[in-house]
Amino acid sequence: MAKTTARTFPGGEVDEPGLVPYPAEVEARYRAAGLWSGRSLPVELMSAASVYAERTALITPEDSWSYRELFGEAQRFASGLLESTSLRPGDAVMFQMGNVAETVVSYLGCLLAGVRPVCTLPQHGVREISVLAQHIGARGLVLQADFGRGPLPENARVLVASGVIEDVVVARGRTSDFVGYEELLASGTAAAPEALPYHHCDPRRIAVFQLSGGTTGLPKIAPRLHEEYAYNARVWARTLGWGSGTVILYPLPIMHNAGIALALQPALLSGATLVLPPSADVGTLLDLIETTRPEVIPLVPPTLAIRLLDDPRSKKTDLSSIKDFIIGGQKLAEDVAERLRDELGITVRQKFGMAEGMFLVTPAHAGERVRHHTVGEPLSPADEIRILRPGQDTEVPPGEIGELCVRGPYTIRGYYHAEQHNTQAFTADGFYRTGDLARRHVIDGLTCYSIDGRIKDVINRGVEKIHADEVEELIMRHPAISNAALVAMPDKVLGERGCACLVLEPGGEPLTMRSLGEFLLTQGLATYKLPERVEVVAGLPLSHVGKVSKKSLREDIEAKLAEEEDLPDRPGSRS
Ligand code: AMP
Repeated sequence: MAKTTARTFPGGEVDEPGLVPYPAEVEARYRAAGLWSGRSLPVELMSAASVYAERTALITPEDSWSYRELFGEAQRFASGLLESTSLRPGDAVMFQMGNVAETVVSYLGCLLAGVRPVCTLPQHGVREISVLAQHIGARGLVLQADFGRGPLPENARVLVASGVIEDVVVARGRTSDFVGYEELLASGTAAAPEALPYHHCDPRRIAVFQLSGGTTGLPKIAPRLHEEYAYNARVWARTLGWGSGTVILYPLPIMHNAGIALALQPALLSGATLVLPPSADVGTLLDLIETTRPEVIPLVPPTLAIRLLDDPRSKKTDLSSIKDFIIGGQKLAEDVAERLRDELGITVRQKFGMAEGMFLVTPAHAGERVRHHTVGEPLSPADEIRILRPGQDTEVPPGEIGELCVRGPYTIRGYYHAEQHNTQAFTADGFYRTGDLARRHVIDGLTCYSIDGRIKDVINRGVEKIHADEVEELIMRHPAISNAALVAMPDKVLGERGCACLVLEPGGEPLTMRSLGEFLLTQGLATYKLPERVEVVAGLPLSHVGKVSKKSLREDIEAKLAEEEDLPDRPGSRS
């Protein structure tokens, strides 16, 4: 196993185009407090790998890997990547990979090669990958050939032909034109990790690009830096008491920020075992719970909790190994928390967080008032929260709802290459304006927070966020549509789904959800972002300041849905 030597880097603010660095005195303070380690993320990971070499690092339904095996493959991937492609340290690589071991190896391998993973998803279409890759300047792509219906190699050819992507690595399938994952591993060597570029990564620079926002207009990319991202993982693992022997089951896409920051990295830094199912299918999860006996499921969206509750097999499965069942990603309804307690004997905790950084979690031993009604307290003693009047810099009175604004040792100071947008998205002193509405409470002596809505124009559909402006911009390209608004409609399973409210051109062809969807797919929108209901309206209602009143549209659609529920025979306008 590799010996890891910490290099010393010069102090002072790092200068990298597009990056808003932490002020030098803040960096120094985080290091002096022992929060930041002065080491890069891959150095920290390799050092953990040498300590826990023989322990189990990863389990999938296909196989399991010790730390020695997993990091050995990652080293081979790293040297193979540098050997077989034109990618060099500092370059960025797009990912279109599902929950398979090859994703973990490629992600770690990129870090060891000094190459920066961009945490895109296999569901992203050509247009989305193209926009994001160009914004970041990414030239590489790692894809999973057997994902979904297998369009990713074909999409990659389009990206290469258009000159956006130069190097493609294909896992789980063969192509004649791209480098195969197995070939890449075979060409790499695990013998000389000292020679790999990760030793030279400056911990103050970008390690990984996470996504926020849509892909029309300015992409919102969260640049996660080596030192803060490693701290994010360590502080989460410490808060939850993880160590070697802890088994963690992560049911959601691993490339999401939560997958990387709350599952993969904290597990590997603490010598724990990560169990990675290929999907959040309840049957597969219950099988893995039975066979691997996880102690922690660090992120369960309410929609998945409901599916578990509704599956009769859950009650027959021994769930007693699970000590921490943490609900997050969407607001938890109290009745779901109570059903979990009463029907499955599960004590829930809640977490809140985002790709930009900040996480909150309810303490394990807090009472139900805290665990069922709040998202708890921030992870780090250095995290700072202000509840501000939206768009302003003044705090609301204690206990009132305002915009949650956050700053701290693992929250970004600015989006990547977004100078103008950053002036609105961050306060002058570096607090990120989350767009979420929150309240501060003191319950049983604990200061904790509840999430009480949001002001940002996002639809929170299960685990995926849909940015309304992105979909609206593409809808407006349709020649029969003169105006459009995408709004959230409540949904028992996913929490929210998107409803497109359309104003048609006079004499325009009638549109259905299906015909609109077909059109949007031709515009390169990912399938999960397609509107799931269409309402044709005479005009869009305006607020008193002359903007489209989405609140009023949401209320209209909620009323319609309630009416349709009362009249089950009514067809509604889903088609
Ligand atoms: P992402 O960056 O994709 O992880 O999305 C972060 C956003 O998800 C937050 O800004 C919130 O709007 C939403 N979110 C995350 N956790 C929760 C939660 N526990 N309750 C309500 N909304 C949440």
